[in-house]
Amino acid sequence: MSEAETADQDQRLLAAFEIAKILATEQNLETMLPKFLACLIETLEAADAGSLWLYDPSDGRLVAKGAQGYDFAVLKQLRLAPGEAMSGKVFQTGQAGLYPTPEATAAAMENITPANGDIFRAATTGLRQPLSAICVPLISGQTKVGVLALLNLRQPASFTHDDMTFLQRVADLITVSIENARLSGELEAAQALSEANRLKAELVSTLAHEMRTPLTSIKGYSTALLMEEANFDPETHREFLQIIDEECDVLQELIHDLLESSIIDAGLLRLEPQPVRLPRLVKGVVDGIANRNQKYRFLIDFPRDFPIVDADPNRIEQVLRNLLDNAVKYSPREGLVVVRGEVREDEVVISVADQGVGIAPEHLNRLFERFFRVRSGLGRHVVGSGLGLPIARTIVEAHGGRIWADSKVEQGSTFYFTLPLKGLSQEQTEPGEEAE
Ligand code: ADP
Repeated sequence: MSEAETADQDQRLLAAFEIAKILATEQNLETMLPKFLACLIETLEAADAGSLWLYDPSDGRLVAKGAQGYDFAVLKQLRLAPGEAMSGKVFQTGQAGLYPTPEATAAAMENITPANGDIFRAATTGLRQPLSAICVPLISGQTKVGVLALLNLRQPASFTHDDMTFLQRVADLITVSIENARLSGELEAAQALSEANRLKAELVSTLAHEMRTPLTSIKGYSTALLMEEANFDPETHREFLQIIDEECDVLQELIHDLLESSIIDAGLLRLEPQPVRLPRLVKGVVDGIANRNQKYRFLIDFPRDFPIVDADPNRIEQVLRNLLDNAVKYSPREGLVVVRGEVREDEVVISVADQGVGIAPEHLNRLFERFFRVRSGLGRHVVGSGLGLPIARTIVEAHGGRIWADSKVEQGSTFYFTLPLKGLSQEQTEPGEEAE
């Protein structure tokens, strides 16, 4: 073996070693492919520049996933059809190509479409005319995955058949890693999808159940009231109507939560901020809830001179109503509910504390996920959709605030949310934007 051949072999060994290292450490395709390319160009004497292309089955085109010597940001805009230009041809035939002269290299590019030609020229400004090139397909089993192209800018016939054999092996390695990364990506996507589907299926069955319970009781009491032979005394009559009325409220709330959630999903939450006196707003909400839950005690604790905040009062009322409803729903032994307001440097903190069942630490972070409900340990069924807290979070965050919970099982929970003191309407007219 000549000295030059030994040197070539050493380089290939080094390249193989470096590639194995990348394979072992990288899982993300977007970072792995440019690294493969950089490693090949660094270790192979003949390679000065190059590009790596992957086939995108959704639009039937090849897209650059790595490039050296090119303006990658521009090259990425290219969508090469199979058969088009050097990479497209090698991809279509599945055969590696050796282009020993500048003429052969240029000829391989001749059929590029005018539009792609413009992009390609923009991506190669500053790159010298290649004097020779090599291009190998990336094939996994029967599936063509992409191509790897390397250029030499200094002399013709710089790539050898040995280079081609070596690059084909490297291409196999790259293909395996692409397939692995894709499979694990697909697996993750499938897992996420099946989790989303599971939640959806659970939601449908929860909702069906949640709606059937009040409906059954509405149907039962209204049928009883309509029975001609039944002659209820006025008190019973009223009691039945009262139950029907309450169960209608439950249904209305469920439907409202669902609608709200879909509105928020569609990105349609619009705030109408105005100066709000929170102590007064809190009192209104607490009075309403206290009326309906006379066995619970409610305490409102706000310091004097509580600052006026800039917020959407209807939305903040919705958050408070949700937190207070929960405080009641999840406190089976009745008890005290405290709504407190605190002023900090640049925000106010509102908290709602109950003496209810509490929330286990492993559930605390999940409360704000849609449809998440702790399996009730209450020994009774509690109506709910698992949408109240996620809706509350979206509203609070849209105001620039935060929401979180703190709890001890069996002792009670406290929900906190903040609202910034620098108001939303001020934010909207700043900077330098004068209201007319
Ligand atoms: P819903 O009450 O309709 O189920 P939420 O999104 O309002 O939905 O609450 C999600 C879950 O968080 C509830 O199902 C319940 O398990 C738990 N939770 C919320 N508030 C409290 C509270 N104050 N005490 C105990 N658990 C609570």
